[in-house]
Amino acid sequence: MDGRFVDWDDAKIHVLTHALHYATAVFEGIRCYSTDRGPAVFRLKDHVNRLFNSAKIYTMKIPYAMEELCKAVKDTIKVNKIKECYIRPIVYYAYGEMGLNPLKNPVSVAIAVWPWGSYLGEEGLKKGVRCKISSWVRVDTRILPPLAKSSANYLNSVLAKLEAINCGYDEAILLNMNGYVAEGPGENIFIVKDEVLITPPRSSGVLYGFTMDSVMELARGFSIQVEEREIIRDEVLLADEAFFTGTAAELTPIREVDGRIIGSGSIGPITEKLQEKFFQVVRGKDPKYVDWLDFV
Ligand code: PMP
Repeated sequence: MDGRFVDWDDAKIHVLTHALHYATAVFEGIRCYSTDRGPAVFRLKDHVNRLFNSAKIYTMKIPYAMEELCKAVKDTIKVNKIKECYIRPIVYYAYGEMGLNPLKNPVSVAIAVWPWGSYLGEEGLKKGVRCKISSWVRVDTRILPPLAKSSANYLNSVLAKLEAINCGYDEAILLNMNGYVAEGPGENIFIVKDEVLITPPRSSGVLYGFTMDSVMELARGFSIQVEEREIIRDEVLLADEAFFTGTAAELTPIREVDGRIIGSGSIGPITEKLQEKFFQVVRGKDPKYVDWLDFV
């Protein structure tokens, strides 16, 4: 926290922290995987760069250099002697003055790491999750910037998640203001139709995910055709395969959407191929993609 190692139980902040009241925080979600060469952080520089871009959109000045934060992430893993973990860097307007102008408050930075298994469950990872198209619309660039990973955006996500769970589903799929498919509450979405892999572009109002970016690269490596284009709901319902990607969700198949079975109702062949390759890559088992790993 702010340049010091702090014991888990002492990692506390004041109740009048600006970000707690007004969601004036940007953050990241990163994973570290165990490899034969020790723990390795997946696409660390890209994630830290996205953190700086999120801060830039909100004109927050991060009081550290990018290289310092990359090193701090690795040092935090080291001192915790942890092999595999989730990493949560957060930059937030701290305690100072209340009111909507945040500029008089100091900008604080904290990095937490903890072991975190599959986000949508082991069963979900293997066989797929059941999804509901949300009645909540994904945050629009005219309201809150989707490309910034800000705490504020996640209230929209929380509403969608709660609705999905309350209706007996595992996860939500959000459409954007124009009715096109955007993403999950914390995941990008892909569909497969006639062996073409399709995902919505930035202009659909999605967070540009590095799991998504990696999966597109892996697909090209298999000579699978990849398209970034707008998707309508109907295409999801009629997809041969569908899956989510995200740091937390990794590569999770979607087996049902609003009562319609997707493909075979389990993990599809292209999804399985990409998931298998993804886990090989993050665990350092494919030298072709070793540049994505930052060894601790
Ligand atoms: N969209 C949203 C809304 C997310 O929260 C996430 C997770 N960070 C993603 C997409 C996927 O991004 P990434 O693969 O970089 O984790």
